[in-house]
Amino acid sequence: MSIDLLEIKNHMPSYNPNSSLEDCIKWLPTPDGIYSVASTMASLNTPHPLVLWFELVWYSHNIPMMNFILWLAIRGRLSTLDRVHLYNPRVGTLCVLCSSSLETHAHLFFECAYSKVIWSHFKDMCGQPWNGHSWPRFIAWAAQR
Ligand SMILES: [Zn+2]
Repeated sequence: MSIDLLEIKNHMPSYNPNSSLEDCIKWLPTPDGIYSVASTMASLNTPHPLVLWFELVWYSHNIPMMNFILWLAIRGRLSTLDRVHLYNPRVGTLCVLCSSSLETHAHLFFECAYSKVIWSHFKDMCGQPWNGHSWPRFIAWAAQR
């Protein structure tokens, strides 16, 4: 045994190898210890519960670019200026539409005067009651329809 392995052994008091057995390689993600590409993919792709807005974003006949942008917006990952500023402090943070507030997701979609005008027209076109002015509430509302 090498010095490194002895050091590891000293940190693992329950480690008691059976020197009469041959060493072997065992793939831990499967119960039988046999490696396969499928078992690797299964170990990397742990299932996650579906989010409520799944069908709002991913549906047949969608426009992939639009759905990707919506997905980014829902996840709060659009390059709004508040986020860009974290990586590049030389970039200003004022909203590009109104130049009066910090550009965040909430401001860009609901709080900005420019956005409010668009939402007002959109609401009238759809004839739907408006449930509030926050991104999470809007996504929850839209996902139910
Ligand atoms: Zn604005």
